[in-house]
Amino acid sequence: MSEELFQELQLPDGNTVRQPIGLYIDGQWIKSKEVLETVNPATEEIITKVYLAGTEEVDLAVKSARNAFKEWKMVHGSERGSLLMKLADATEKHIDTLSAIEAIDSGKPKDSNARGDVEGTIALLRYCAGWADKIYGSVIPTGPEKLAYAKRVPVGVCGQIVPWNYPLNMAGWKIAPALAAGNCIIIKSAETTPLSLLYFAQLVDEVGFPKGVVNIISGLGTVAGSHIASHSGIDKIAFTGSTKVGSTIQKLASSNLKTITLECGGKSPFIVFEDADIDQAVKWAAVGVMFNSGQICTANSRIYVQEQVYEKFLEKFKEHVLADYKLGSPFEKSTVVGPVVSKAQYNRVLDYIDVGKKEGARMVMGNEQVTSKKGYYIHPTIFADCHQDMTIVKEEIFGPVVAVSKFTTEDEVLEKANDSIYGLAAMCFTKDLERAHHVSEELDTGMVFINSTENSDIQAPFGGVKMSGIGSELGAPGIETYTHLKTVHVNLGNKL
Ligand code: NAD
Ligand code: MG
Repeated sequence: MSEELFQELQLPDGNTVRQPIGLYIDGQWIKSKEVLETVNPATEEIITKVYLAGTEEVDLAVKSARNAFKEWKMVHGSERGSLLMKLADATEKHIDTLSAIEAIDSGKPKDSNARGDVEGTIALLRYCAGWADKIYGSVIPTGPEKLAYAKRVPVGVCGQIVPWNYPLNMAGWKIAPALAAGNCIIIKSAETTPLSLLYFAQLVDEVGFPKGVVNIISGLGTVAGSHIASHSGIDKIAFTGSTKVGSTIQKLASSNLKTITLECGGKSPFIVFEDADIDQAVKWAAVGVMFNSGQICTANSRIYVQEQVYEKFLEKFKEHVLADYKLGSPFEKSTVVGPVVSKAQYNRVLDYIDVGKKEGARMVMGNEQVTSKKGYYIHPTIFADCHQDMTIVKEEIFGPVVAVSKFTTEDEVLEKANDSIYGLAAMCFTKDLERAHHVSEELDTGMVFINSTENSDIQAPFGGVKMSGIGSELGAPGIETYTHLKTVHVNLGNKL
């Protein structure tokens, strides 16, 4: 192993890591022609550079995965499960390092955020490990002279493309079910956050997955990403990212009719009825849009509050966010809100804040933007008295910015909540059981949270409708999405 494929990094928490920077293809670390620098969003300093996969390296990875699939698909489910369990254990052993790498590369506060991402990844690896030998098909009743059964078989070679807001966690959502179901994979990280996935590749290697089963690459979306999406040697594509890129991927994937799963953008409405527990609504609303600096696909970035409790909610919301959402360095224990991930995202969010002001929304909090220190820091920002036609109500901001509006009736708020191109999640706060169920029935979204916000479980399906995506991840459907049904007809004596 060449040392140039690894780099010693000094982390802000005092630890040193040996960070892989190459491409993990066919069980080996390799270099390529192009490199990309990755930046620490808290300091704007370059952390290191990583090698980028071009089309040639993607071709290599596909060839390796196709080869590996011939044997991997014959491996018993219990053995696949056992390897996933070992991978979970290895990840657990490295939890502190992985959390620190995630924090330095993405800006997530290490203790209050990044660590939870790694814990979630470990839990999902174990959950999927349990599935690996329990993926059943069915026997179909076809009469006495025939036996027909449908098996669930792996799709084959899967291309997986992940975003920067939950770099390792989103990768886990794709890697764990794909391997449990017997597929081989090529996964590509996002440009701004390649490090945690490369570190994780070492653990994949260490626990002994056969070479070529898991290929982990860094690469540009427009080069490696689009080549994965259109590659004729890949059978399925799973993507998490923006709606715009999701739509491009759907087109590219049509070249060989790949199965696709798309987890795209959102603009989740959060409805507070007058009978709600306001203190609880305030706390959930805050965590749902300020956590992870608002870079959450299910972020409840539009809040609708019934007129009777509107001012009370706003007052308490502001008080709570001020007190509990401290902006600061990802390596300070008290930090809840870190910097946003990149300069581009920083500018994009600040532009939206400007547009909010220009379009006449009332800024309740957030005017004191950070200008003095380095880093892509944005204060939690609350806009009130918003209207449906405002840009900040319509478009996904993906920052710690929320638009609050007032409503009068249930019909009115349902119409407003559904008035969006997105349909990922919606939240409803009320103590009225009938209303809660009626409202959840009427919301055009893939997920509804009653009296909470995004607190999904790995056991339950996760996914959106409309322009928020196609298909589900997590839970049993998240495993099934990595299988095909193969129907076998057995003639039990019917002669022609
Ligand atoms: P993005 O769409 O720009 O990038 C996502 C990934 O796609 C990256 O790995 C990127 O390299 C790759 N990519 C870019 N162009 C490509 C192309 N032409 N072909 C193939 N791949 C390409 O999104 P982002 O900026 O990384 O992430 C933010 C977005 O992701 C937000 O819109 C957010 O809502 C969405 N997101 C959704 C979910 C979800 O589960 N629904 C989760 C996280 C993020
Ligand atoms: Mg980075």
